[in-house]
Order: sequence, then C-alpha cells, then structure tokens
Amino acid sequence: MIKKGLYAILGVLVLLSAIVVIRTLQFVPQQHASSQSTLLDVVPHGPTLSQHLSEAIQFQTISHDDAKQRDDESFHRFIAWLSTTYPAVHTELSVTPLNTFTLLFKWQGKNTQAPAVLFSAHYDVVPVNPGTQSNWQHPPFAGIVENGIIWGRGALDDKSAVVALMESVTLLLSKGYQPEQDTYIALTHDEEIGSREGAQAVTEYFRQQNVALAWSLDEGSFVLDGLVPGSDKRVASINVAEKGYLTVELVAKGEGGHSSMPPQDTAVSVLAEAIVNVKNAPVPGGLNGLGEQMYSNIAKHMNFGKRMLFANTWLFKPLIESSLSTSRAGNAMLRTTTAPTMLSGSVKANVLAQTATAKINFRVHPRDTVERVIDWVTRAIDDDRVTINTIRAFTPSSIANTQSEGFNNIASVTRDVHGDVIVTPGLTIAATDSRFYSEITDAYRFNPMTLTPEYLSGFHGTNERIDEKNMVDAVSFYTRLMMHK
Ligand SMILES: [Zn+2]
Repeated sequence: MIKKGLYAILGVLVLLSAIVVIRTLQFVPQQHASSQSTLLDVVPHGPTLSQHLSEAIQFQTISHDDAKQRDDESFHRFIAWLSTTYPAVHTELSVTPLNTFTLLFKWQGKNTQAPAVLFSAHYDVVPVNPGTQSNWQHPPFAGIVENGIIWGRGALDDKSAVVALMESVTLLLSKGYQPEQDTYIALTHDEEIGSREGAQAVTEYFRQQNVALAWSLDEGSFVLDGLVPGSDKRVASINVAEKGYLTVELVAKGEGGHSSMPPQDTAVSVLAEAIVNVKNAPVPGGLNGLGEQMYSNIAKHMNFGKRMLFANTWLFKPLIESSLSTSRAGNAMLRTTTAPTMLSGSVKANVLAQTATAKINFRVHPRDTVERVIDWVTRAIDDDRVTINTIRAFTPSSIANTQSEGFNNIASVTRDVHGDVIVTPGLTIAATDSRFYSEITDAYRFNPMTLTPEYLSGFHGTNERIDEKNMVDAVSFYTRLMMHK
C-alpha cells in the first residue's frame, strides 16, 4: 500500500518535471526579420551632432521647483538658437508656440487622412545639486566635447533627443522627403517640474484641433547595457505606461508642554507608530500584466535555470515575486512603492510637539488607483489620532497597446539600429510628459540611445554626458521611424 502511494507520488513528480522542462525548452525568443528595404540613404554626421548638442547644453534652461526662479531669457535664447541652427525645420514645417516656451512643429504628410504621429522631447533640465559643482569633471553648462563625449546637464535628459529630432527632420528635408502621415514634433519646457504647461498644452491642442494620433514617442527608457541583472544582452525597454504619484501628509496631534513629565503617547510617538505601520504593510503587488510580460521577454534570453522559472510561473510565481521584491528595481516594477520622506515635530528638544507631521510618497502602480492606495494606508494606520491629507496625486497612465503597428515599428527600427537587443515593453516608474499624451493616444516612452552603468549616475546627478556614437544612433533611429509608413 505504502509502496503504491510512493509510486503515485513519484509518478506525479516525474510528470511535473517533464512539464517544467518541456515548457522551459519551448520558452525561447521569437525570431525577427529585418524590416527595412526602401529607406533613403541618410547618414548622420557625428561631429555636427556633437557641436549642436554642445551648443544646446550651454543655455541654462533650468526648471526650478519655485517657478519664479526660472530665467526666461535663457528659454527665449534657446528658442532663437533652434531657429538659426535648424532653419529648414522652421520654414518647411509650421510652428505653433504653446504657453510661450513649448514649440509644436507640424510636418504635413502626403496622406492627411492617416492618423498623425507625435515625437516629443523636453529641453528644460534639472538644476545642478548645490554643492556638487566642483565634482563635475567638466562644468555642467560649458558644453565641453572631449574624445567623442559631450558633457553637461541635459546631455542625456533630454536635450540629446531634442537635438537628434531636429537633426533628423533637417536631414530628411535635405533629401526632399515628405512623411506619409502628418508628423508632429513637440519640444516642451517644463517636464522636470510636472509638465503643467508644456505637454498638457500640447495634448489640449490636439483635442481642440481634433487631431487623431496613431501614437506618440517621448523620453522613457533606453537601450540598457549592463543594467538588467542577469542579462548579458542589451535590453531596449519601450515603456508603455508610467506610474502615478501620491504624496500624503500624516498629522498627529498631542498635548504640548514640557518634556519632563510626558504623557504615555506623544504626537511624535503616535506619528512614528503610524509610519512603521505603513512601512510594514507594503501595498500588495505581484508579477502579472506588464511586469510579467517584461520579465518573461528578458528571461527567454537567460540561462536554463532562469528560463525554467519564468516558463513555469504557474509553479514558481511566488518564488519569483519574493526574489524580485527584495531588489529596489524589482520591487518598483511589482507594486506601488512606499517612501516616507519628510518629518517634523517640536522645534525644541525639551518641548513636546503639539503637532507632528510626516510626508510619505507613493509611486502608484498601474494596477492600483490613488483612492485604493489611500484606503490601504488608512487601514494600515488604523488610528483616529492620525489625520491623513492628500498633498499631491495623479493617477497612473493607461497602458499603451503592445500589439499595435506603432509599437512594432518602434521595435523593429530599434533592432535595425541597435542590432542584437532584447526589445520589450516596460514601465516608467517616474512621471514624464507622456502621462498627458497617454490620455489621447498610445504613448511610447523610449530614448534610442545606449545607457551603461557609468553613464547612469549622470541622470539628474553629476557628470551627465553622452557619446557621439549615441547621437548618431539616435538620428538613425528617428529618421528611420519617421520614414516608416
Ligand atoms: Zn527627462
């Protein structure tokens, strides 16, 4: 009897193993044929690209949190520089200024009935972190070009895309090219402080003019080289959604007075308990939808062990989820993240606080809504001595279609330009202009340049830079995509 039972268990195990192995062996990447045959011969000129990006960097088009600090003169001068550097773009396309500093170019297509497309990039930059100027190998606004590398604030984010887009249109115009469908190019001026004027005005313009868009392409992820753990191959993450945003303020009240004879609970201790409760109750997440699609696309190129896990999520999902949740990047992909960021209490060490406040910042996963997160937090705190105020919130974007012609075109042009890369849909975990574009079209988020770990730290950080080869790649990419029907 026991023996029979053992055989039965053994039989089930053999069967399970067979299923796992078969599924793993079938879990391989799709083959992709090269897409292009009738393209114009467009050859970007590297040194010109470097020179133009260097010039663009020298305008201090800085977005400050305090809008009054903006140096409008720099923005005006940058716009004037665009028109003298790219005269053909300004004469052969129509230009509509929106909210003074955002420019919307329209390139008339041959077929005005076809849905239009939008390319977008922002030319505002973040300030240099105070006290870090001297850590820069080259001054952040000098636009130094050295050994094929262009240095300065905006080199990656996002003046390189601005310059590459302008160069691409210029090159195509010089060949007498006219796009099939209306092609718009938006250059926005306030992405770094929440896109309240630029991208929002662009979106409103399309609504008012009844312009139907097939898709939009704006900044997002890059071709990631050495940045995806476990993947030797470069990963081109074409992001199709972005997270929402929520900041709540927790307020706890208490008796004030001298700290020599405190009550059992003070405003500070009540608040501290609330923060710990929120921290200990992460918003539920998991490997499904977009995250699952992304990780399985990448895993198909990995070793047998990793492929086995992702080919058999029916069995290994809990294991994968708990492993991903321990890494910061993995956790951010899987769920709404929780980050307590600001605290205040009494102004003096020996005075009890009458009010203690904390701010917690959440990045809301597309599977959640802002309301659900607030509800979750309220239940986690479960203390009516703590008031929860919403300070700033916006919902996660919709998810753009990954089966569309637009997505497929972007993917195939990426392969044409960058060669043997894994192309996958991904999720942007910060906020970009695309959160407005996604209200009216399939918004894709991708910079067609390669990003390595050594360049990554330049992002909003020190020694931001890009190499000339990347600028050439970006122009090859944009020109090819603009020529796609
Ligand atoms: Zn940016």
